[in-house]
Amino acid sequence: MTDPKAPQFRPETLAISHGWDPEDALRSAKPPVFMTATFTYPSAQAAKDVHRAYFDGDGPEAGGSSHIYARLGHPGLDVLEARLAAIDGAEAALAYCSGMAAHTAVALAYLRPGEGVVFGRPFYSGVDGLLGGIMPQFGSHAEAYTDGCDAANIWAACERAMVKGPIALLAAESPGNPTAALVDLDLLVEIAGRIEAAQGRRPIVMVDNTLLGPFHQRPIAHGVDLVVTSLTKYVAGHSDLLAGAITGRKDLIAPLKLQRLVWGSHLDPYNTWLVLRSLETVHLRTERAMENAAAVAAWLRDHSKVAGVTYLGFTPAGSPARAVFERQCKGAGSTFSFHLHGGEAEAFAMLDRLKLLKMAVNLGGSNTLICHSASTTHYAVSPENRRASGITDGTIRLSVGLEHVDDIIADLAQALAAA
Ligand SMILES: *Cc1c(COP(=O)(O)O)cnc(C)c1O
Repeated sequence: MTDPKAPQFRPETLAISHGWDPEDALRSAKPPVFMTATFTYPSAQAAKDVHRAYFDGDGPEAGGSSHIYARLGHPGLDVLEARLAAIDGAEAALAYCSGMAAHTAVALAYLRPGEGVVFGRPFYSGVDGLLGGIMPQFGSHAEAYTDGCDAANIWAACERAMVKGPIALLAAESPGNPTAALVDLDLLVEIAGRIEAAQGRRPIVMVDNTLLGPFHQRPIAHGVDLVVTSLTKYVAGHSDLLAGAITGRKDLIAPLKLQRLVWGSHLDPYNTWLVLRSLETVHLRTERAMENAAAVAAWLRDHSKVAGVTYLGFTPAGSPARAVFERQCKGAGSTFSFHLHGGEAEAFAMLDRLKLLKMAVNLGGSNTLICHSASTTHYAVSPENRRASGITDGTIRLSVGLEHVDDIIADLAQALAAA
């Protein structure tokens, strides 16, 4: 799976060529879709060898390309996982049927009864519900920090957690959505060391890298142990499938792989093939989407009906967040929010006048998607917590896509003009 020559290539190249040998399938230039549930063995001994390689990691088949049953792995998954790991600069990777399946795998494996997780808010609502709501039903505990660039704020949450039991997971989503709040990944890794000094055991540092994606933020390079990415968003990039990934340390990924075969949450052959196809162009698509977003954000900022724009690119010069942005992000992303003067009525009227932009809650797709945060993505969040995250009744989230930027702006202009 690991190609010793791989590190000499850059991520853009790895996304296209890594991990596929045409000899594996009739010299086809591209990995085919292996639509099979199971794989045959040439002999009874070969069957045993393949199982031994899978479960014990040794035997004559270890490191080979043999397969058993698609829930345990399949050829497309081998190629995709090799590429995801190489692009992230990680030792290993696993692909799942959704981003939430990947998050759930980490939580079930590495957050046990009596142990704690400390995570940053806002976190994607599904993950907030998993770590802060569901996992505690199995006996774990959770504490949240709210300023991921402030050591004292993160450490205070850690101290609250350690009173209840050891911290097993230290987690972050950066940038946050829709607030564009950043978590300083170097600081997070340093705090993991402080936790180790305090409790005698280092927590696993896990970062959700969905919002900027693998080409614009590289958490592994900052010392993060596990990276979770919803491939549904920028990586798949066309708003047409769900998928997720975990990349990181081999010793942490290996147990996850054995558990995934039990949960049955692997990515299926067809969606694996679609993600492989998308992976080749994700850097081009995200760069263009980010260019479009910068132009749309600048246009909105100057509009008389707009009270403010929460866009990473506008992080004030000289602020702690700006320093983190410059150190850790290679782009400002293309998902941001803007806040209309007025409330729900003004926001709904504007949204209902749009002709080109579609109302939907996904992000990172080729089409520009827009939604009213308080009544959709943050429907289940209390008004107080919404306010704390900077979400008003006039807040609208925009995931800028790949249409011509003038068409995006023209549609927003006509919808706002009548408001
Ligand atoms: C969408 C999303 C998820 C969940 O991914 P799914 O593929 O929808 O399950 C997790 N984290 C972030 C930041 C997301 O945007």
